[in-house]
Amino acid sequence: MTDSIFTKIIKREIPANIIYEDEYVVAFEDVNPVAPIHILIVPQKQIPTINDANLEDTALLGHVILTAAKLANQRGVSENGYRLVINCNKDAGQTVFHIHCHLLGGRIFNWPPG
Ligand code: 5GP
Repeated sequence: MTDSIFTKIIKREIPANIIYEDEYVVAFEDVNPVAPIHILIVPQKQIPTINDANLEDTALLGHVILTAAKLANQRGVSENGYRLVINCNKDAGQTVFHIHCHLLGGRIFNWPPG
């Protein structure tokens, strides 16, 4: 598998505003934010889509979500609320084929998303 753009960010081959990293995940600011807070939480392991994840990735994916919640708390939006999004394939508009969770906050989000 060739390196995704996010793997290149993780390897510091291309720049990004990295705000959190541990042995399982990296989080950085989205280059094209759609909300005042728009952070991507990305597993260090390059898995193309959520369809490709399996049982052995359960803890990793849980860690992605809990990291998003921790960063939301750090950014002060836990109480007012925020949205977590994982897009999968073309109908959802996935453009980077390396699983990532969008943390969106700082404004009101409509439901249904439209
Ligand atoms: P998707 O549509 O795949 O769920 O989301 C991909 C996200 O990655 C988009 O919000 C896009 O703005 C962001 N993105 C794409 N390339 C880069 C990049 O090189 N750096 C950063 N920081 N974000 C990127």
